[in-house]
Amino acid sequence: TASGSGRFGGVLEQIGSEVAALTDRGRPADYIPLLAGADPGRFGMAVAEPDGTVYGVNDWQEPFSTQSITKVFALALVLASEGEEIWRRVGREPSGNPFNSLVQLEYENGVPRNPFINAGALVVTDRLQTLTGNAAGRVRDLLREESGNPAVDFVAEVADSEAAHGDRNAALAHFMASYGNIANPVPELLAAYFRQCSIAASCQDLASAAGFLARRGVRADGSMLLTPSQAKRVNAVMLTCGTYDAAGEFAYRVGLPGKSGVGGGIVAVVPGVCTLCVWSPGLDRRGNSVAGVWALDRFTTLTGLSVF
Ligand code: GLU
Repeated sequence: TASGSGRFGGVLEQIGSEVAALTDRGRPADYIPLLAGADPGRFGMAVAEPDGTVYGVNDWQEPFSTQSITKVFALALVLASEGEEIWRRVGREPSGNPFNSLVQLEYENGVPRNPFINAGALVVTDRLQTLTGNAAGRVRDLLREESGNPAVDFVAEVADSEAAHGDRNAALAHFMASYGNIANPVPELLAAYFRQCSIAASCQDLASAAGFLARRGVRADGSMLLTPSQAKRVNAVMLTCGTYDAAGEFAYRVGLPGKSGVGGGIVAVVPGVCTLCVWSPGLDRRGNSVAGVWALDRFTTLTGLSVF
């Protein structure tokens, strides 16, 4: 469905035109050289309703680097496969530290604070790799199946670019391995994690793919991925930990569970109502998309929707 239609069409049109006036858009992530060249002027937004209807504005069909947004899907797959077991190896408290921080691990015996900082996501991907032998492939397949777009795929250049600058993630993985909290060989885990992060998808794809979080765990085909309780819990962890060390500010401004990535995307959920994805590559100093947070803030303000 094109922009302007559907229940939220008018709101999207308004946000899509207002965004042009936003002057300070932040800067693209520069620690992965391949992301550094992205244009902060790009902006897309999509809304998917629980019945699968999806519509959007501006660059909503443009694929971008999903990065940390994939951490939600990896966690969902692990929970779907073996329930609450993963919480022995990773916590669910906001970190208050940057996404790639090492410091807390030493105090908590190699158990990361939550599954959405890099250390925690490495543990989740490690578990998914043990369970399936193909963690990145499973995440990509889930995104394909739930979005209905078979073109969602890895971008080898992005994975390679990140691997070439991956000393921090390698340090995190080795450090946790020293506490016995990584089961796979670290190089294998890192390769899976970088492939997972490299997946390109559009706002349209991601708003659709996250639909199970608005449908109490039910997949696009009507089968169950998560129990309603698990879906609620993933949303809860997104709310408290999904936007790096700015989760409090995000909850304050937007009032929805959300997960951001350094590619400039953010997925957000209004349980029972819709899922959203915004994308604009310019980031604030915490690593969240400036125009993306602004647009979600506008959406919840204009519609009155929030989990509060
Ligand atoms: N691939 C990125 C990293 O691990 C993901 C970062 C992010 O999107 O937060 O450094």
